[in-house]
Amino acid sequence: MRTTNKPRFNECTERATKLLCQQELLGRALSIRKLTYDRCIIFDTIQNYAAVTGFSEDQLRNTLLRDGCVLKKRGANIVLYEESTFGHWERFNWTLGHEVGHIYMDHTHHGSTEEVEAHFFTSQLFLPEYTIRQMVKKYRIIDANDLSQIFWVSVEAAKKRIRTLKKYHSQKWLPEDFQIYKRLYERIDFYFYCKKRDLNFRRALIDREVARAEREREKYEMLHFL
Ligand SMILES: [Zn+2]
Repeated sequence: MRTTNKPRFNECTERATKLLCQQELLGRALSIRKLTYDRCIIFDTIQNYAAVTGFSEDQLRNTLLRDGCVLKKRGANIVLYEESTFGHWERFNWTLGHEVGHIYMDHTHHGSTEEVEAHFFTSQLFLPEYTIRQMVKKYRIIDANDLSQIFWVSVEAAKKRIRTLKKYHSQKWLPEDFQIYKRLYERIDFYFYCKKRDLNFRRALIDREVARAEREREKYEMLHFL
């Protein structure tokens, strides 16, 4: 039972770091619906869930307004979202990350402390502190646009993270922090390489992925030809 209402910042950071470290981190962005979770989390639209369960969409919306967007069914957490929110991908993805934060912080209700914790968890998941501090060390000046491009989050989310990290500093690093940075630094270096040459980073990243996939396919075909 929690006795104080103070947000558990260190706990948020630790749990988000561990979840982030479970991911391959090879793709472009951290797509919340496709992460590897060690808890049972199902993502669905309100529309689809209503059709499957027989609840009306409005019934579901009313429940969700009271309890956020997570329904608990036996051991499973069902994160429901409106079909229409899919439009702005970064924001949509962040919202789902926020709900995952509530799940990983074992929240049973939505209070202001819970909101702060879910937000802090999400910020670390998308914008890991150790990696950002390493970036600052290496590239000196980092702005919200850099973070938004590299980590596929909105500029507003990146600005907020910068403000937070100016005030908050983790007490200790976990082995997972180093592993995450090891998997991300190549993408970060590639971003600054593109920035220096005025190249469109995201397009260049996609081109690089396509080229890599083609090389893999050629290798595969070669193996089967031999
Ligand atoms: Zn919330």
